[in-house]
Amino acid sequence: MAYDFDLFVIGAGSGGVRAARIAAAHGAKVGIAEEYRIGGTCVIRGCVPKKLMVYASRFADTFEDAKSFGWEVEERPAFHWPCLREALREEVERLSWLYAQNLERHGVEIFSTRAEFAGPHEIFLVAEERTVTAEKILIATGAAPWVPHNVPGAAHAITSNEAFELEKLPASIAIIGGGYIAVEFASIFNGLGVDVHLLYRGAPILRGFDMELREKLSAALGGRGVTIHEHAEVDRIEKRGEALLVHTRKGEALTVEQVMYATGREPYTFDLHLEKAGVEVAPNGAVKVDAFNRTNVPHIFAVGDVTDTPAQLTPVAIREGHAFADREFGDRDVPPLNYEGVPTAVFTTPEMATCGLTEEEARARHGEVEVYRTEFRPMMHTISGRQEKMFMKLLVHPESRKLLGAHLIGEAAGEMIQLLAALIEAGATKEQLDATIAVHPTAAEELVTMRTPS
Ligand code: NDP
Repeated sequence: MAYDFDLFVIGAGSGGVRAARIAAAHGAKVGIAEEYRIGGTCVIRGCVPKKLMVYASRFADTFEDAKSFGWEVEERPAFHWPCLREALREEVERLSWLYAQNLERHGVEIFSTRAEFAGPHEIFLVAEERTVTAEKILIATGAAPWVPHNVPGAAHAITSNEAFELEKLPASIAIIGGGYIAVEFASIFNGLGVDVHLLYRGAPILRGFDMELREKLSAALGGRGVTIHEHAEVDRIEKRGEALLVHTRKGEALTVEQVMYATGREPYTFDLHLEKAGVEVAPNGAVKVDAFNRTNVPHIFAVGDVTDTPAQLTPVAIREGHAFADREFGDRDVPPLNYEGVPTAVFTTPEMATCGLTEEEARARHGEVEVYRTEFRPMMHTISGRQEKMFMKLLVHPESRKLLGAHLIGEAAGEMIQLLAALIEAGATKEQLDATIAVHPTAAEELVTMRTPS
């Protein structure tokens, strides 16, 4: 049977765009549908505008520290949110346009419409009110913020989706959650001068990361003025005039101007009519896939956050989309992705980054491990007077001498972890690190000069 497309991709985010482009480059006839804007969460309302906001939030430190270096900062610098918001809009617009251009240049046909399954090979394009057929289909619809349904007043809160488009920067905010999004936005808003309260149901923040890192980051954010409420479960949110009252189960009531939920994300399979194609989903709605991103229906695949992937990260979705296209249309034998110890950064100030096993995981798996740690005041702060310290920890297998994990807090942690990740991936040993000549004076030189395990 002849199909309209060799591949039809539902969702033009990081994973979908990469898969479409690579499949087209392999000669496939590809269509892609996007109901919102080309680029997906990462480009439109995730990584990209978030990181730009992180930059904005860090200028407060720069103005402050500059004085110690002899700069006269004449007036108290003022921050204008609408100015940043417009700059973010423009950049997001530019990137979205570039993504579309890139797809078109590769001959991918773009449909600006919602798409839903109408059958195993049939896709209904809602805005166009017609059905197209495809030999293979890729589901790449991502995920959307999830807000607990059982908290009265939760509808008063925003999510990260709205955080980039706020009409006005609030004077105070309560952020609910203790994961990536909660802590990153807590740090951003704090840097922009907002009074931030972070309410986390557990302690310390960032469950799943190395415990020492979690404790140190929590202390550092506290030191910068973020009020972290641990073991704080929200009972209800009440609107009183312009203010919002966040009531916790412990009986506390916090009055703030804005509340933001950052309690995780859910796979965006809403009304996709997967049942019409017979695609199986997990209880949380995630599309079930095997190690090759294939669903239970052999010609239907899924990549990225819509699946039950262990790492909801843009580079993971991109890698999955690329591998899928290479396997299915490039006749390449790409092995399954290794999800263990994927490098990642939390873009707080100070920044935190991690790769490989946590100390807890390393001990559970290997028994004894060598731990090298260092904590020091970065050179710049010897003059600025800032007390915040940089922290680095390397985990080493005592017999094989291989690096098992790396955990950092401080400036450029995200940049450094990328290179440490390459070393871990290559199976580098501690001795190879030790044999490397340091670059002086840098913070990263500590990574090759730690000699004594603690
Ligand atoms: P996370 O899964 O990271 O964190 C969710 C947080 O919400 C956890 O602290 C969790 O607590 C808490 N939570 C969950 N349910 C409830 C509830 N019912 N009531 C109160 N608290 C609750 O999700 P995020 O939304 O922060 O981020 C989603 C994903 O996006 C991340 O997993 C990450 O993969 C990705 N991301 C990556 C970034 C990066 O690479 N820098 C940046 C932003 C997002 P508990 O710990 O107790 O479960």
